[in-house]
Amino acid sequence: APMLEVIDVARRFSVTPAVRGVSLTVWPGEVTCLLGPSGCGKSTTLRMIAGIEHLDSGEIRVAGQRVADPRHEVPPERRPVGMVFQDLALFPHMTVAENVGFGLPRTRGSAEQVAHLLGRVGLLHHADRYPHQLSGGEQQRVALIRALATRPRVMLLDEPFSSLDQRLRVEMRELAADLLREAGAAVVLVTHDPDEAMMMADRVAIMWEGRIRQEGTPLELYRQP
Ligand code: ADP
Ligand code: ADP
Repeated sequence: APMLEVIDVARRFSVTPAVRGVSLTVWPGEVTCLLGPSGCGKSTTLRMIAGIEHLDSGEIRVAGQRVADPRHEVPPERRPVGMVFQDLALFPHMTVAENVGFGLPRTRGSAEQVAHLLGRVGLLHHADRYPHQLSGGEQQRVALIRALATRPRVMLLDEPFSSLDQRLRVEMRELAADLLREAGAAVVLVTHDPDEAMMMADRVAIMWEGRIRQEGTPLELYRQP
């Protein structure tokens, strides 16, 4: 069964609608990229899935359960949804390990899970550092595993690598792709970079002025003129 179903959602801030009837179906372990120019409604769509933006119409389901429609919205902290946003900072007063463990019960199992994830991204030796003592790429890795630590059903990434330089970006894409595949969540990745979409996506939805204009596998879209 699909893990994430976005059904005809719309959102208007002013006269011009930001999102006008977007639908998406994402299966467990699948990465869907929302690709499109700045202002086409990608972030607003992601924020509605996360529960930090209201819907004017439509419906969102996670694992078959309705989490949002215009009349009822499950708050973000009660959705099995993880997020990595470009500007979603780590908690500055918490160590790396505390950041990753935030939201987990205080058990031995959780501590082991945190250590496993830190090892997975090569940061076990930085567990007791504070975020400002890490490089940008290291902070990004911590943000990614923090979002994965609670084992979310759905993972949302909004331009997660855009602040990194080219070499780090390529490295992070590969690491993130591996981690996301292992996690088995339904992933929605927002990007305006076609290379990133082609490299990471199982399916690509190309957005334009609040709508999905084309949708398919990278190969299908690449073949089209
Ligand atoms: P993208 O992520 O594709 O760049 P957004 O979803 O951020 O696009 O924005 C879509 C449109 O909605 C843009 O015209 C943007 O200016 C507008 N918008 C987004 N958020 C708000 C907001 N909180 N208030 C008013 N307008 C907004
Ligand atoms: P803004 O641009 O409005 O600050 P953010 O994306 O930073 O938007 O966050 C909007 C709201 O969503 C904030 O109230 C924040 O506490 C909440 N939020 C952000 N990330 C998470 C998360 N991972 N889990 C739960 N709530 C979150």
